[in-house]
Amino acid sequence: MLSRREALKTLALSTGAIALSSTASTAQQALGEVHKLPPLGYDYDALEPFIDAETMKLHHDKHHAAYVAKLNQALEKEPTLASRTIEELLKNLDSAPESVRTDIRNQGGGHYNHTLFWQLLRKKENAGPQGDIAKAITATFGSLTALEEQIQAAGLKQFGSGWAWLVLRAGKLVVESSANQDCPLSSGAYPLLCVDVWEHAYYLKYQNKRADYIKAVLQILNWDVIADRYRQGKA
Ligand code: MN
Repeated sequence: MLSRREALKTLALSTGAIALSSTASTAQQALGEVHKLPPLGYDYDALEPFIDAETMKLHHDKHHAAYVAKLNQALEKEPTLASRTIEELLKNLDSAPESVRTDIRNQGGGHYNHTLFWQLLRKKENAGPQGDIAKAITATFGSLTALEEQIQAAGLKQFGSGWAWLVLRAGKLVVESSANQDCPLSSGAYPLLCVDVWEHAYYLKYQNKRADYIKAVLQILNWDVIADRYRQGKA
């Protein structure tokens, strides 16, 4: 994902072009595209048969892209927020101007949550949690299986659209769920792992069988990324 700083650098490099056309709307348009759709980082079919290529393509290219576009559109109303990263926007949701608060919550949350979700998935065999996070999982839940059962339960009991999460909350590992695109960053937690339980995430392949889909996701988690996030969140 292009960070705000990198985006500004790019913008600075193209300042000549902006100065030439020199209209506020051009500059605003450039600023309005600060939040970018990050690439998946792997092919649409990379997670087959756990998640099908068509779902991945629609989910990333249409659903996630729409959250990014609508977030950028909303932020045009509040130029003072243009320098904030998506993390900063979500962490400070309660103090965001009312004109954009709901859009940051829904569209910004959608952008952040999906960006994290893509990073957490890979089909390559891996040994599961290792090191510090493995110890913390055992200490908190008893076993990886027990953690997986809690994530499964959180995803299943989430009525309607939402997410299941493993987060660091006050330094402790906690499994929770959220509605819609609500992000744990907005309630002071640090997300380690998320499972999208919106129907758009699974309906093409799994239809109404949300449990089977969550079970599939749990088999393709990239525990290296989750362990890195655990270290960052603890630091
Ligand atoms: Mn989704």
